[in-house]
Amino acid sequence: MVTIENDIPIGHRRGRLFVISGPSGAGKTTLCKQLVARISNLTFSVSYTTRPPREGEVDGKDYSFVTNDAFHEMIKGNEFIEWAKVYEHFYGTHRNTVIQSLDEGTDLVVEIDEQGAMQLKKAFEEGVFIYLFPPTLATLRTRLEHRGKDSQESIQMRLERAKDEIQHFGEYTYFTVNNELEQSLKQLEAVVIAERMKTAYVNQSSVGEQCQDHQKEA
Ligand code: 5GP
Repeated sequence: MVTIENDIPIGHRRGRLFVISGPSGAGKTTLCKQLVARISNLTFSVSYTTRPPREGEVDGKDYSFVTNDAFHEMIKGNEFIEWAKVYEHFYGTHRNTVIQSLDEGTDLVVEIDEQGAMQLKKAFEEGVFIYLFPPTLATLRTRLEHRGKDSQESIQMRLERAKDEIQHFGEYTYFTVNNELEQSLKQLEAVVIAERMKTAYVNQSSVGEQCQDHQKEA
């Protein structure tokens, strides 16, 4: 396992938001979960949804599964930083959870659809937006069929939507093509590392303190 530590003495800094979108079946969830397992101080943001759990999905880990009524109460209470109807269900990202993580200095991976990503782009200009392509639409169809979680009608709907969604990839800063999991993971790791190394996010005053400490030791 590769663990990436940021050893630069930057003191406390606000967390970074990594937003990943791509068509259903492109492999976003697998990539995101593996990415957070490999990189320290990077957490997966668990969304709320009205979709029923699929086999093997755990409430609070994969999604927080809620009823339609509960979801709409949360919308009324302004509890989502973004939300969208994707296919026939609602999905949303919890505002306070995101703000708290970033305030604590924890980087977050948010795996959401393109409508949600565009909402976040307005709220978080400094967010890092990454688009994940499937190798081809034919591969996407095969993957959706093989995962056996969706009906033929749902697969067709997801493919149609993918064709539309892919047109918007230019709104994202980075992209990767999920041909081969390990390669895409390496590319995503590279993005996270590079973003962490941006001087713009270094707390200038704490670097000054660190340098003075080093001078005293020398
Ligand atoms: P699935 O039902 O296959 O888990 O997800 C369907 C789609 O909803 C995927 O494109 C996924 O990225 C998106 N999605 C998951 N969570 C959220 C969320 O919190 N907000 C938005 N806007 N989309 C989400």
